[in-house]
Amino acid sequence: MPDVVILGAGMAGMACARTLLQRGLRPLLVAPEPDVASRGETLSFRASPYLERLGWLDLLDAETATQCQGRYSLWGSAALRRDTSHQDEQPGWHIDRRRLEARMADTLDTAGIARRRTEARQLSQGPSQVTIALADGASIDAAHVIDCTGRAAVTAGPDTPLRRLDRLVGCYCVLTLDDDVDAVAATLVEAVADGWWYMTVMPGGRSLLCYFTDSDLLPPGLRKDPALLRQLLSQTQAIAARLDSLGLDPTASGALSFAPASTATQVRLIEHRIIRAGDAASALDPLGANGLATALWSGIQAAESAIGLLAGNDSQAKDYERRFLEGIASFLTTQRAMYASERRFSDASFWRRRSHAAPAMA
Ligand SMILES: Cc1cc2nc3c(=O)[nH]c(=O)nc-3n(C[C@H](O)[C@H](O)[C@H](O)COP(=O)(O)OP(=O)(O)OC[C@H]3O[C@@H](n4cnc5c(N)ncnc54)[C@H](O)[C@@H]3O)c2cc1C
Repeated sequence: MPDVVILGAGMAGMACARTLLQRGLRPLLVAPEPDVASRGETLSFRASPYLERLGWLDLLDAETATQCQGRYSLWGSAALRRDTSHQDEQPGWHIDRRRLEARMADTLDTAGIARRRTEARQLSQGPSQVTIALADGASIDAAHVIDCTGRAAVTAGPDTPLRRLDRLVGCYCVLTLDDDVDAVAATLVEAVADGWWYMTVMPGGRSLLCYFTDSDLLPPGLRKDPALLRQLLSQTQAIAARLDSLGLDPTASGALSFAPASTATQVRLIEHRIIRAGDAASALDPLGANGLATALWSGIQAAESAIGLLAGNDSQAKDYERRFLEGIASFLTTQRAMYASERRFSDASFWRRRSHAAPAMA
């Protein structure tokens, strides 16, 4: 019976596996074949110490990451502003997540990680082990399970449901820049009546465009009808101008993808022999661009918690749970203040829904 089974091989699961391997354990990693969405994401500078600890800092190179050169926003007023609130901090990176995660996976394979390429379906906890029923029909026992299954949150149940705080979805496409276009690697965020837009540059001469709104506010048929996307874009100023200056036309690319992006929180991270990390513990609104750094940090912390529990010591696990939940509460306060700073659309449903007080965590 493996001491630790990790469910899910996103950044949280891989950080967890790497930490356990570094500490001399042989965890089993259960996850289906990688299916990482081809979208770029902003990796906060806060990820640096975790990447360094995991020996992954040098995986950020020209193929996987571009140094971020600032954040501009049209938010709260019609003037385009450079975000100076983080000017004392180091810039983060715009990453090609698929490539970066493939590189991380290679390091685990080189270190001899044990894998099962399938999904976990159901878990039951006994006094001395957790039994995991797998999608391939087999079942395995483990002393401890670390749930890193992202928004699928396979271990959430009636006693520990993921509490969804909104209905945010992201609609995105990756656009290819012409060879002779030299785009500044800055992030652009623009608020509109029904949500907000995000645009950035990805490694490999590409650009990511994403529109965030609530699922019930999405125009029906958006996936297939370029006229609807054109209409949404016509409500933007800075995004439309940037697309124009880079010679990009998302309505011609025809490939719009959708992803759930709501904030969904857990109230418990440690449930007897189950430990949760990453989005399976709490999935955050991408406005804060902190989900990946949190996934790396919590993957490391969940691994250390499991090591403590195996030795009969639960202090690390308790400390991890407390720090994580405090961090989420603080994130929700910041998130609410960011939404509250946009008052131009206070009559619109999207913004009205976000003007309420931040819900208590417990
Ligand atoms: C549109 C959008 C934009 C975002 N932009 C940013 C950004 O700019 N910056 C940022 O930091 N964050 C961003 N985020 C958040 C970020 O993507 C997540 O916080 C991060 O990916 C969480 O990592 P994770 O490892 O917990 O989960 P995931 O990356 O979701 O990985 C989950 C893993 O679990 C596996 N899995 C699922 N179900 C099972 C099962 N039943 N059994 C076994 N394995 C399973 C999956 O195959 C996968 O390997 C964004 C999110 C969205 C939706």
